[in-house]
Amino acid sequence: AREAALKTCMEPATTIDGHRMEVVANIGGKEDAEKSLTMGGEGVGLLRSEFLYLDRVSEPDEETQTQIYSDIAAVLGKDKPLIIRTLDVGGDKPLAYMPLPEEENPFLGERGIRVGLNRPTMLRRQVRAILRAHEHGKVRIMFPMIATLPELLAAKQVVSEEANKLNISGVEVGIMIEVPAAAVMAEIFAEHVDFFSVGTNDLTQYTLAMDRGHPVLAPMVDALNPAVLRLIDMTVKGANAHGKWVGVCGGVAGDPAAIPILVGLGVTELSVSVPVLPEVKAHIRELSMEQCKNVAAEALKQPDAAAVRALTA
Ligand code: PEP
Ligand code: MG
Repeated sequence: AREAALKTCMEPATTIDGHRMEVVANIGGKEDAEKSLTMGGEGVGLLRSEFLYLDRVSEPDEETQTQIYSDIAAVLGKDKPLIIRTLDVGGDKPLAYMPLPEEENPFLGERGIRVGLNRPTMLRRQVRAILRAHEHGKVRIMFPMIATLPELLAAKQVVSEEANKLNISGVEVGIMIEVPAAAVMAEIFAEHVDFFSVGTNDLTQYTLAMDRGHPVLAPMVDALNPAVLRLIDMTVKGANAHGKWVGVCGGVAGDPAAIPILVGLGVTELSVSVPVLPEVKAHIRELSMEQCKNVAAEALKQPDAAAVRALTA
């Protein structure tokens, strides 16, 4: 099956009844971007930019950051989108040069966009670097861990101010949907963004109130829990009400049991780890939209994750 998937990986992922899905990669840097192209990646749905900063002893200056993003954008070219997520540190991801205060509950504390909004000059430098890289590709900007509209508007304000100063236009802005509040409020938030990308790793953790890395709870932290699927459904409906699209970049996007359900819920982009790109595309080619819609509707009615998994097993 791997052989067959690899052979067809450069072809689009279109269902048997003609619905094209965008299949893109989650990457941590330039090497992943290069590799993704050989595996049929149609762009990058998530550059976890923190990976480029985690092992540094000081914050790279704006020029250095611009260079890093421009290099990756150039690998992908003008046609393949590169979604760059701003620093997502805090929680499980410490940053050596920016010690965060000890917290009782780091996953509920200063992490993601909260770190950036509380350190505006740092956020501005990164946003400027991302905007400047647009010249070399098709760069989009995405903010992590948005929970409230004021956070979204404040982050967007930074983009519009810096874009104005740089005289750059046309960089799309999106947010991660990984806090239940954002999924519930998707219809309101959608008016202010170009796209959503559902981060099911965190969305599942926060929906179930179960640590995503917990050794004992791990088997229950399943993104196919119908509570999570209902939130994804709300996200898609909220987005579509404003003509916006939704991707999924959490680990479940590469899970064969999840793919028909996500397609059926109306997700149009799957962003997955580089090695599984060929299999995900091959899998989509075996599905029909009608079948996906039926299984998604059934999934939403199931009582628990095991029952959802039984549908696509
Ligand atoms: C997620 O939360 O699903 C996600 C894609 O972001 P990360 O895994 O980097 O937290
Ligand atoms: Mg996350």
